[in-house]
Amino acid sequence: MKILVINAGSSSLKYQFLDMKNEKVLAKGNCERIGEEAAGFHYKTADNRRVDLTMPLKTHIEALNQVVKTLMDPEVGAVKSMKEIDAIGHRVAQGGPTFSKSVHITPEVEKQIEDLIPLAPLHNGPELEGIRACKKVFGDKVPQVAVFDTSFHATMPPKAYLYAIPYRYYEKYKIRRYGFHGTSHRYVSHKCAELMGRPIDTLKMITCHIGNGSSIAAIRHGKVIDTSMGLTPLDGFMMGTRCGSLDPSIVTYLMEKENLSPEEMNRILNEESGMLGVSGLSSDDRDIAKGEIEGNPRAILTHEMLVYQIVKFIGAYVAALGGLDCLVFTAGIGENQVDLRRNICRGLFYLGIEVDDAANHQMVGGKAGEISTERSRIPVWVVPTNEELLIARDTQDIVTRLRYALTEDKTVVDPLDV
Ligand code: ADP
Repeated sequence: MKILVINAGSSSLKYQFLDMKNEKVLAKGNCERIGEEAAGFHYKTADNRRVDLTMPLKTHIEALNQVVKTLMDPEVGAVKSMKEIDAIGHRVAQGGPTFSKSVHITPEVEKQIEDLIPLAPLHNGPELEGIRACKKVFGDKVPQVAVFDTSFHATMPPKAYLYAIPYRYYEKYKIRRYGFHGTSHRYVSHKCAELMGRPIDTLKMITCHIGNGSSIAAIRHGKVIDTSMGLTPLDGFMMGTRCGSLDPSIVTYLMEKENLSPEEMNRILNEESGMLGVSGLSSDDRDIAKGEIEGNPRAILTHEMLVYQIVKFIGAYVAALGGLDCLVFTAGIGENQVDLRRNICRGLFYLGIEVDDAANHQMVGGKAGEISTERSRIPVWVVPTNEELLIARDTQDIVTRLRYALTEDKTVVDPLDV
């Protein structure tokens, strides 16, 4: 089965095309600045050449048409006809209380994703647009599957997911912790258990997804019991431009003092805070690292804060799990930032964690492996994330069951009912 994985943002559309026979990526790329005259279209050819184009892409449909055209291009493409695209898997950020697993997208599911837009306006709206664009371009015959960022966290108990505000707001608006990056936490926790040669249902794990957006999950026996992101991806610890948890009074105080609207406040917390806000330099950790080497005090402070906040979260989750069998780092910073990993692990020395410097230096640029010493009481791993592969696997699984159900019983329409 060949599957197209789509990750649609408000002005972007990332894609990967995979052959599930050997889970090989046949093509990948992204469209950015959709809506502008000079939108960008970047892709890799089958022989790994990078192509960067500028063209007008006014809508997600135009972007998707360009992707399909490129996939079918006789020189750089991966298929001869659209018929070779068997199914489409979509990343959807917010599944809310409705979706605890990946689903086949029916008109009802589409409506449910739309109903969840108020809980994730920056994400679910554009993702729905991506789904609708695919429907227009591919028609109804190509099955589409939604894989939610929140669904891996659906096992959290109420004591972990409820905020201590009047209960009626949970009842009325479904305000609670949902958690995000679930597909990444699911992928790396399972992959790490596999690499360790241990069944996941025997392990207490903490997975640290540290990238531009970041979150940590506490996973007991394969099930999330707590995670740092909350109702939205703003909660948790400091990120590229997001503030993470803060005293809620700061929000009302600043709004009053600076006469800010909710939109302006939202923008400050989401786009001007975090590493960018503290350092005044950049949201990109490579720039902060460079600033640190140059002795920039705010870059040094930014890294001190980031390490401190992560160490605190890990400590809290060790307590929540009642122990720890394995610590995992993933995503852009977690997979590459050697110094940051070492400093975080130094802060965990009290747990008996010790990092092997040589192994730590080796595990960069997409390599997976253990970075702790033999003496370390708890193994520490670097496991590159692969959300697209998991989306493709879920899509294959659901479409296979859908086809099976349809051949067995013509009345079955939802594969998850079988
Ligand atoms: P996103 O949340 O957008 O998916 P990523 O997981 O790609 O983000 O992470 C982006 C962050 O990872 C940036 O802060 C960047 O500096 C850092 N990063 C990415 N690649 C490297 C690298 N090779 N070395 C150091 N840091 C890196």
